[in-house]
Amino acid sequence: MSEPVLETRGLKRSFTQGDVTIHVLRGVDLTVAPGEIVALLGPSGSGKSTLLQAVGLLEGGFEGSIRINGREAASLDNDARTELRRDAMGFVYQFHHLLPDFDARENVVLPQLIHGAEPAAARARADQLLSALGLGHRLEHRPAKLSGGEQQRVAVARALANRPPLVLADEPTGNLDEATADIVFAEFVSLVRGEGSAALVATHNERIAARMDRVLRLHEGVLE
Ligand code: ADP
Ligand code: MG
Repeated sequence: MSEPVLETRGLKRSFTQGDVTIHVLRGVDLTVAPGEIVALLGPSGSGKSTLLQAVGLLEGGFEGSIRINGREAASLDNDARTELRRDAMGFVYQFHHLLPDFDARENVVLPQLIHGAEPAAARARADQLLSALGLGHRLEHRPAKLSGGEQQRVAVARALANRPPLVLADEPTGNLDEATADIVFAEFVSLVRGEGSAALVATHNERIAARMDRVLRLHEGVLE
């Protein structure tokens, strides 16, 4: 069997404010295989974002083990962790976080240039991804000129631009109306599948979760 793209063991995260400590993650054991699309389901406040932030190596403060492509995150220094995040993961958030002064294509090209891609290849890759998401006619639109659904599609293309083995998505369609969310979500799953990436997708939407390969439920700080 091939190595998991993501594995956590005994992952814990607490927050202390004043003399109150809340234990958000109480020992999360999670395995995602290459190419697998997994839903992380739980009500608001259950710790989905906290879990994705830990796995995305965006902040420390957790206990336990996180392995990305077999590499233990805790054993890496800051530079190595940043490199692993850049090479192995793509991120989609609830809000698009696109660069407002750059058009759709440029928003997908930039992370590739940072990653060392040739400009012409980066541009071809951006156009291919954006076209696959139905945005072939919006390449030169800035985010402010795009609808909410279009903005999230650009964010999806950006997350996949460097062909990450793992995509982390935190309620990626949470800001869209139901009909648009369904369409964008179906496109997201189909594109991630076509690219062969794995994904861990936080959502509180049962209907959306049911379309993934596997559903994990976060309840009282552990996965059921
Ligand atoms: P979800 O994404 O499932 O809605 P979150 O991971 O955002 O849940 O939050 C889980 C719990 O952790 C909530 O009670 C939230 O208030 C708390 N929490 C999250 N981040 C912080 C933080 N930086 N400081 C203090 N409490 C936090
Ligand atoms: Mg959240």
